[in-house]
Amino acid sequence: MAEKLVAVKGMNDIAPPQSAHWEWLEDTLRALMARYGYRNLRTPIVEPTALFVRGLGEVTDIVEKEMYSFEDKLNGEHLTLRPENTAGVVRAALESNMLYEGPKRLYYMGPMFRHERPQRGRYRQFHQFGAEALGFAGPDVDAELIVLASDLWAQLGLTGIELEINSLGQPAERLAHRQALIAYLEAHADQLDEDARRRLHSNPLRILDTKNPAMQALVNAAPRLMDHLGAESLAHFERLKALLDAHGIAYRVNPRLVRGMDYYNLSVFEFVTTQLGSQGTVCAGGRYDGLFEQIGGKPTPAVGWALGMERILELLKEQGRLPDAPVPDAYAVVPDAADLPRVMPLLRALRAAGARVQMHAGGPDGMGSMKSQFKKADASGARWALIFGADELAQGHVALKPLRGERDAAPSQAAMPLSDAQAIAARVRAH
Ligand code: ATP
Ligand code: MG
Repeated sequence: MAEKLVAVKGMNDIAPPQSAHWEWLEDTLRALMARYGYRNLRTPIVEPTALFVRGLGEVTDIVEKEMYSFEDKLNGEHLTLRPENTAGVVRAALESNMLYEGPKRLYYMGPMFRHERPQRGRYRQFHQFGAEALGFAGPDVDAELIVLASDLWAQLGLTGIELEINSLGQPAERLAHRQALIAYLEAHADQLDEDARRRLHSNPLRILDTKNPAMQALVNAAPRLMDHLGAESLAHFERLKALLDAHGIAYRVNPRLVRGMDYYNLSVFEFVTTQLGSQGTVCAGGRYDGLFEQIGGKPTPAVGWALGMERILELLKEQGRLPDAPVPDAYAVVPDAADLPRVMPLLRALRAAGARVQMHAGGPDGMGSMKSQFKKADASGARWALIFGADELAQGHVALKPLRGERDAAPSQAAMPLSDAQAIAARVRAH
């Protein structure tokens, strides 16, 4: 036998019954986005590598070590499997001059790729759902996006998701803070770990995000960006907080929240849970007013977030909030294969009338025993068996046998005329 091929490490198949949970989450998200006036944008999974290098920043974790990049064998182009989709959305908006008529509210969903160490809640192909509001400068849209995410948790029945917010100010304010921070860290160089020493001059802000317990005291006493923010940045932050207060949305200001990408400014936020171990951030985002310019456009304010769909589904499972797997309304039991030409078109008519009908499929030697057919009917989870026996068919009827709770409501087998597909469909669909 040939060697068995397996999926790439950290990249998973999503099969039934779990795929039904995915579809349910996607449907819930689509409906919610429609209520907030966000519309779907679908961009390619492969983008020019330069988009991420310029968009995310050269010294970010993603660009430094997580990207799946390759050279197109045919023309030598440098390409990358998208590690995130904000840069792609902005590229698409620029390319088609999408904001010509005014600002746009957009959403996307799909696979992202990062070369990380696979573990619970961290994969190499994972799925994000993202919302992006392009061309809006005010804190009202920052608040709208946070409220939207809060609505999602409520709608999914999720609890225990906490909101952390911070303001990163504007580039000049960050620069002043950066200089103060470097001076402070240099003065305490003996307490820095290897990672921090490496980042001291390239990305000192990221040092504040360290998970090393030995550096917590140092980091806690570091100069705070908030103390370097000017009046306008502070006002933006205050207005955001006031709007969240008006919605009764609880938040914690976390001055150490810096986010991984260079493109953020002003508001940044994360929704976190303690229920998923160390991969506790389920949704994260912020304002990125500089990104359009960074990839060759006119200055354009924008804000957005992305949520990790695997983490949301894991949390739903943890909290017992996943819906039951969908089951057919009816399972068609067909004793004699010779009757299939008569039965199959009828099943088709039942489906056209809205019933979910699963047909018993036979083998090369016929349909199998009634016993084995009923075993399959039971296993399918269907509420009804539709029995197309010789006697019933001779009278122009089908027998309906309740398989589950319906046994109490309708204990006996009933026959219905084959000619009335609408009535049969209505009967099996009614709970
Ligand atoms: P983390 O700190 O967990 O690495 P991040 O800051 O790199 O997250 P973002 O780039 O902001 O994450 O992506 C938004 C969300 O996407 C995260 O909050 C998380 O829920 C999800 N996510 C990010 N990376 C992965 C991954 N490798 N596997 C699964 N989900 C992920
Ligand atoms: Mg990461």
